[in-house]
Amino acid sequence: MKVHEYQAKELLKSAGVAVPAGVVVTRPEEAARAYDALGDGLVVVKAQVHAGGRGKGVAIGPGDDRNQALEIASGRRPRPEAMAKGVQLVKSAADAERAAASLLGKTLVTYQTGPQGQLISKVLVTVGHEIVRELYLGMAVDRGLQCPVLMASTEGGVEIETVALKTPEKIHREPIDVGIGLADFQARKVSKALGLTGDSARKGATFFKNFVKLFLDKDASLAEINPLIVTAGGDVLALDCKLNFDDNALFRHPDVAAMLDETEEDPAELRAGRSGLSYVNLDGDIACLVNGAGLAMSTMDLIKYHGGEPANFLDVGGGANKDQVLEGFRILLSEPRVKAVLVNIFGGIMKCDTIAAALLAAYDELDFRVPLVVRLEGTNVEMGKKLLKESGRKIITAEGLTDAAQKVVAAAKGAA
Ligand code: GDP
Ligand code: MG
Repeated sequence: MKVHEYQAKELLKSAGVAVPAGVVVTRPEEAARAYDALGDGLVVVKAQVHAGGRGKGVAIGPGDDRNQALEIASGRRPRPEAMAKGVQLVKSAADAERAAASLLGKTLVTYQTGPQGQLISKVLVTVGHEIVRELYLGMAVDRGLQCPVLMASTEGGVEIETVALKTPEKIHREPIDVGIGLADFQARKVSKALGLTGDSARKGATFFKNFVKLFLDKDASLAEINPLIVTAGGDVLALDCKLNFDDNALFRHPDVAAMLDETEEDPAELRAGRSGLSYVNLDGDIACLVNGAGLAMSTMDLIKYHGGEPANFLDVGGGANKDQVLEGFRILLSEPRVKAVLVNIFGGIMKCDTIAAALLAAYDELDFRVPLVVRLEGTNVEMGKKLLKESGRKIITAEGLTDAAQKVVAAAKGAA
């Protein structure tokens, strides 16, 4: 699960990690009040969306060209004055209000969002700081080392992906023992790698230790502070923060789970999650309803192999019941681009005749506007197939995976 920058900063703050003061607002006039409340110097107004690259990103309205916006956000085209940036530095309450008005209700396109962009419904108004040094701090789980790794680099403020690709030696890595956290000697090593000295080194060490502790305590899966800055006064501050959490551990962290912003999630994926279905939306036109993640992956592979494009990944699970199958179909059929549906079920825990009965019930209850191809295998498969054949419904049955994939690809092309 992802959270917004302002939420990540709330978590950092309560973990003892230094962040600039800020207020999140949903209306332009609130931004002016927030400016006054924060002081009278430099203030930064920042679009809150679940994506990075906002500084270079552009806010667009309904009339603007999305693909052009993406070219601007990726630096391939100059930004026209009229298009607002996702992060704006202001020096008055009136400018804070104007900046917020240029973002709220617009769509932010960054190199990470793709051309469709993301709706801006909140902006963070935060105290601006003079940047003396711009650094990078990140944390992720290293599967090779089988532990989380703290990453630090003097190359802050730029895309870390580029640094990792071109100059990987500029990223200092510190493996973390999850039972200990960041040890004192490691904190000192990171401070040294970042060139921090004196008071800044001490402040940095506390910052790094608390940052690592937060990552471990909250079961984060990815954390990034870019930029981490050193101010003129020697303070070490998180100017930006991205945090991702392990969905499987969210039950242990109701405070984090409560931060979910449903408007940032795919509506179909949210709906599927509520019914205990694993669903991922894709771009193609062949919807798949499969039991088991491995079978779902190979089903998608086969569809592609035979010239089709899967519209989704949907795993109804080993013991899916009729209600889940029904809800699965409703979600699949609600996607207007779907031109055919493939059901690929291996009857193990759930027998094929039970599945066939559930399929027929679903077929009668829902409006199947597109061809339905069914491949069943496993326990009681003959009984299941017989039920489908004798039902008189317009269901295309398939023998084996290849036959199923070929039939559904042909059906989708016919419908198109
Ligand atoms: P991102 O583009 O989505 O990663 O958003 P950031 O929060 O990292 O902001 C983008 C850029 O805005 C930063 O790299 C800084 O250059 C600039 N910026 C953000 N906050 C401040 C600030 O307080 N002072 C100054 N001088 N620049 C800032
Ligand atoms: Mg950033």
